[in-house]
Amino acid sequence: MLKQIQGLHHVTSMARDAQENNDFFTKTLGLRRVKKTVNFDAPDVYHLYYADEVGLPGTVMTYFPFPNIPRGHPGTGEVGTTVFSVPEGTLGYWQERFAREGVSDVGADELFGQKRLTFKGPDGDGFALVETKDDTRPPWSKADVPADEAIRGFHSVSLRLKDGGATEELLKFMGYEDVDRSGNVKRLAVPGGGNGASLIDIETIPGGDRAAQGAGSVHHVAFAVEDRAKQLEVRKALTDTGYQVTPVIDRDYFWAIYFRTPGGVLFEVSTNEPGFDRDEDTAHLGEALKLPRQHEHLRTMLESHLQPIKD
Ligand code: ZN
Repeated sequence: MLKQIQGLHHVTSMARDAQENNDFFTKTLGLRRVKKTVNFDAPDVYHLYYADEVGLPGTVMTYFPFPNIPRGHPGTGEVGTTVFSVPEGTLGYWQERFAREGVSDVGADELFGQKRLTFKGPDGDGFALVETKDDTRPPWSKADVPADEAIRGFHSVSLRLKDGGATEELLKFMGYEDVDRSGNVKRLAVPGGGNGASLIDIETIPGGDRAAQGAGSVHHVAFAVEDRAKQLEVRKALTDTGYQVTPVIDRDYFWAIYFRTPGGVLFEVSTNEPGFDRDEDTAHLGEALKLPRQHEHLRTMLESHLQPIKD
C-alpha cells in the first residue's frame, strides 16, 4: 500500500464559455483565479485555475473552456459531484447567495452526518458545499464572500461508477482506507490527509448509463504527492501493478502522470512542487496570460484568438 498520496491536488473540468466560467468561480463562489494559461496539449484553449490565495494542493479547481462544445450527459464512469468545504453554520449564507445569483438546482441534504448544499455550475456541473468542522485552511479573503463563510478548498469528490469494486481496490492500493458506508455510497479517506482534501466517495449505480463527457463534466481528478521522487515511487508501483501510466509530464506548476482507472475515471498524480508562484508574484497571480515555453512563440496569435476575460 502506498503512503505518498496526500489527498486531492486538483480537479479539472470542461466548460463552454471562459467568461461565464471565470465569473462563476471568482464572483459567485469567491475563489481566486491563480493562473490564466492554456491547455498545453491544445494551446488555443484556456486552462483556468481557481483556488485559495496561492493555489495550495487540495484547493485547485481548473477548467478547459472549449468554446461551443456540447454539454455532457451525466452518467457512470465519471466524477458525479465535486465537493467544497465551508465552515459550520454557513450553508444559510450560501443558500441566500445562490438564490440572489441565480445558481441552478440548489438543494439541501445530509451525507454521513454532514450538511450539504448541492448545486449546479453554469454547464450543469455537479457541485456541493459541505459544512466541515475544524478546516483550518485559510480562504481567499479578497473576493466578495466574507472570510467567515468562504470556501476552504476541496472536501471530496464523489465517483459515480457502474461497479465500484476495482476502483475501491485501486484507491486502497493508493493508501485510502474505509471510513463509512451509506446506501450505495462508500466513503474512503487517506490517513493523515495533510492537505484537508482527504475524502473520496464511491457511488455505485449498477444499472447506470455511461456518461457522455462534454461541458460540465469532470475531465480528471489529480492526487497530490510532495515531490518528484515520491511521484516516481507511485508511478513505479502503479506500473508494476499493471496500470498504463504516462511518463512524467512537466505542467510548469507541477509535474503530472496520468492513468485510466477500472471504473473509467482518469486519474492524475501531481507534485506539490513547484507551485503557482513560480512565474508570477503572489500578489498578481492569475492576472497575465502565462504560456509554457514551448508555446511562447504562439503568443500573438493566441492573444488575438482567445476570448478576452473581464474581471
Ligand atoms: Zn490535471
